[in-house]
Amino acid sequence: MRNQNTIQRPVKVEGIGLHTGAPSCMWLEPAPVDHGILFHHGETGTVIPAQVDHAQELSFATRIGLGESAISTVEHLLSALRGLNIDNVFIHLEGGEVPIVDGSAEPFVELIEDAGIREQERPVMTLRLTRPIEVHDGEKWIRAEPSDGLEVDYRISFDNPLVGFQRYVGCISPESYRKEIAPARTFGFLKDVKYLKSQGLARGGSLSNCVVVDDHRVISGELRFPDEFVRHKVLDLIGDLALLEYPIQASVTAHKAGHALHAALVRAILANPESWELVGDRSQAVLTVPRALDMEMPAVMGF
Ligand SMILES: [Zn+2]
Repeated sequence: MRNQNTIQRPVKVEGIGLHTGAPSCMWLEPAPVDHGILFHHGETGTVIPAQVDHAQELSFATRIGLGESAISTVEHLLSALRGLNIDNVFIHLEGGEVPIVDGSAEPFVELIEDAGIREQERPVMTLRLTRPIEVHDGEKWIRAEPSDGLEVDYRISFDNPLVGFQRYVGCISPESYRKEIAPARTFGFLKDVKYLKSQGLARGGSLSNCVVVDDHRVISGELRFPDEFVRHKVLDLIGDLALLEYPIQASVTAHKAGHALHAALVRAILANPESWELVGDRSQAVLTVPRALDMEMPAVMGF
C-alpha cells in the first residue's frame, strides 16, 4: 500500500475556459494528509470538495458546485491528479472554469511534475470493490468488477468512418497514465461544435484545444495516437472516478459511456456499500461522501 502524496510547492497555470471562452487562472498548492482534493472558488470564496455529490450537468463536461458557486470542466485536472496518485491538493481558481490548455491532461501532468510530488507520512485509503456493479442507459453501459488495481476496458463506437469502433485495454499506473492516457485530447465532430457554439457553449473551443473531426478527416492536424479518441474517454473516466474521494481498486469496462454514466457509476458504488470496502489505515478513515440514494440515475444493477 502506498503512502498519500501531495505536491512540493505551489504552481500556477493560466488559460481560457473551453465553455466560457473567458480567461482563467489556477494555482495548485500543497495540502496536508487526509485533506483530499478541494477547489477554492476565487470570486465567491466557496470551498468545493471534488466529490460526486457536488457534481452537476454531466452531459458534455463535469462541473462541481456548491450553492451559487460552480467550477466547470474539472475532469482533465482531476484525471491528472488521480493518474499521478496526488491525494491532497488545494486548488485556487479564478474564472469559474479550469483552463482547457491543449484539451488533454498532459499540461497538468507537466505542472504537477514541475511542482514535484511529495510522499506524505500516512498510507492512502483505497476503495476496493468486492462485488460487481453495473449501470445502464439504453445501449450504453459501464461495469466495475473486483480487481487488485485499476484496470480499464473502454469501447467507443461512432457512426463516423474515422473514429468508428475503438477499444483501449490497460492497467492504470502513473507510468502508463503519463505515456498512454494524459496526451489524448478532447474531441468533437464539426457539426456538434457548430451546435454547441450556437448554444453559447464551447466558446473557448478551437483547433488548438480540441481534435475536430469532419465526416472523413481530422481538420485539426495530426492525431497523437491512432486511437486518441478512446484514450481521451479513459482520461475522462479516471477524472470522473476521482469524484469517489478514494482511489478505487476495480476493473472497469465501459461501452459508449461518457461523463453522465461515469458519474452514475460513482453514485451506484456509493449507494451500494455492501459492494466495497475501504482498505488501508482504518483508524484514520472516514468516508465523508454522503450516500447518494436519492440521486437520479439510470437503472442500477448490482449482482
Ligand atoms: Zn474530456
